[in-house]
Amino acid sequence: TVRTRFAPSPTGLLHIGGVRTALFSWAYARKHGGEFVLRIEDTDLERSTPASVAAILDGMHWVGLDYDEGPFYQMQRMERYKEVIQQLLATGHAYLCYTSREELDQMRAEAEARGEKPRYDRRWRPEPGKTLPVVPEGIKPVVRFRTPVDGVVAWDDQVKGRIEISNGELDDLIIARPDGTPTYNFCVVVDDIDMRISHVIRGDDHVNNTPRQIHIYEGIGAPVPVFAHLPMILNESGAKMSKRKDAVSVVDYDAQGFLPEALLNYLARLGWGHGDDEFFTLDQFVGWFDLKDVSPSSSRFDRDKLLWLNAQHIKAVEPQRLADRVAGFLADKGVETAAGPALAEVCTLLKDRSQTLVEMASQAEYFYRPLDPTADVVEKHLTPDDEARLGLFAEGAASLPAWDAPTLSQYIKDFVKQQGVKMPQVGMPLRAKVCGITNTPSVDAVLALLGRDEVLRRLAA
Ligand code: GLU
Repeated sequence: TVRTRFAPSPTGLLHIGGVRTALFSWAYARKHGGEFVLRIEDTDLERSTPASVAAILDGMHWVGLDYDEGPFYQMQRMERYKEVIQQLLATGHAYLCYTSREELDQMRAEAEARGEKPRYDRRWRPEPGKTLPVVPEGIKPVVRFRTPVDGVVAWDDQVKGRIEISNGELDDLIIARPDGTPTYNFCVVVDDIDMRISHVIRGDDHVNNTPRQIHIYEGIGAPVPVFAHLPMILNESGAKMSKRKDAVSVVDYDAQGFLPEALLNYLARLGWGHGDDEFFTLDQFVGWFDLKDVSPSSSRFDRDKLLWLNAQHIKAVEPQRLADRVAGFLADKGVETAAGPALAEVCTLLKDRSQTLVEMASQAEYFYRPLDPTADVVEKHLTPDDEARLGLFAEGAASLPAWDAPTLSQYIKDFVKQQGVKMPQVGMPLRAKVCGITNTPSVDAVLALLGRDEVLRRLAA
C-alpha cells in the first residue's frame, strides 16, 4: 500500500510551502487508497517549540488535510533510534569514532591547504588488516555510518528524474552524537522505515540528504522508498519566500479572508497542472494528481491568481460557511450581527462581489449599522433635491402591501416614472442614505433584506 507522510520541523508557523508538500503527499495517498502520516520532527530542541507544534496542527486542521496516523513525535522515539544504532554497530554498518575536535580542525586546515573539501579521514573506520588508533581517555565517541567509498548512489526521483551521486562525495555520516542522541538524517530514515513509508514526498531542500539516507536504508536492510522532491515556491519577485516580507503562514491567509479550499486549489497549481483546469475541488485534484505531472522547476507565487480563485470558491460554497467566518471579521470591527438580517442571506447577496471574506465583511457592515456617507457621496447623491425625493419615497414605502425584493423593485420603477427621473437618480441616493455607500448589490434586494422598519428609520435620519 501507498503510505506517505508530512514531516514538518516545529520551528515556526505552518508555511505555505509546507502546506503544498503536505497537500501533494496527502493527495498521493488518497488517490491510491493509501495512508497519510503526520510526523513532527522535534529533535532540534533549541528551535522546536510547543507553540509551533500547535500552529502546525491548527494549520493542518484549517486547510482540512486529514491524516490517518499521528502526529508522531521524534522526541518520543529516542529509545527506538538508540536501539537501531546498536544494531548498526553490531552488524558493522556503523562504528565508534573518537576523533577530537582538534583533530577534525587539523584535518580541515590540511584539506583547505591542499585546496580540497574538508573531510573526516576515516581513521576510526575498521578495515581488514588495519590497526585502529588507541582509544583515548575521557573522550566520548560519536557513531559514524560506514558509507561505501566507491561507486555511486542513485535514485529515480519522481519529479527530478534520475539522480546519481558519487559515493566519493560523501562522508562517514555521524548518526549519534557523543551524548548518544541520534542525528537528523538517521532519525528520518528510522521513522520512514518504521512508519512503512512507501513514497517520500518532500521539498527539494532535502535532495542532498537523500543519498546519505539511501545508504542508511541499505545498512539497516530495509527497502528504499520512492522519492519525489518538490521544487521551491518563490515570491512574486522571484526570490525565496521570506517570513518577514511575504505572507507565508496559513494563519496569514486565514486572517486575510481566504477559504482553505481556495488556498489548496492555488497551491495545487503551483508546479502541477491538469490541462487548462484552474478552478477545481479537492476531490477533482485527488482524482487527477500524479507525481509525473509535477514540474521540476520552481514556481512563483501569484497573489492575483489566488484572489481570483478565492472569489470562485466564495461563489461556490455554502453561504452559512461564509457567514461563520464573516461573523468573526465583523466582530473584530465591533459590528454586532445578532439583531440584523441573517448573515448567511447577506453573504448570499455579496458572494459574487467579494474576493476575500474580509472584503465581504466590510461590504456586510451597513446591514448591521448605517455608515456615514463621505462628503463626496453627500455632494453627489444627497443634495436637498435628493433628500426631498427620498422623503416622498419613504412615504410610499411605508404603506407597501409587502416588503420583498419583487414588490420593492416594482415600487422603485413606478416611483422613478412618477418622478420623471432616471433610475440612478433614485437608486444612488437610496443607497447613499440607507447604506452610506453607493457600491452595493441591487437596491431592491438590499432594502428587502434590511427590513421595512430599519429602512424607514434610516431614511428618516
Ligand atoms: N523536517 C523536515 C522539514 O521540515 C522534513 C524532512 C523530510 O520530509 O524528510 O523540512
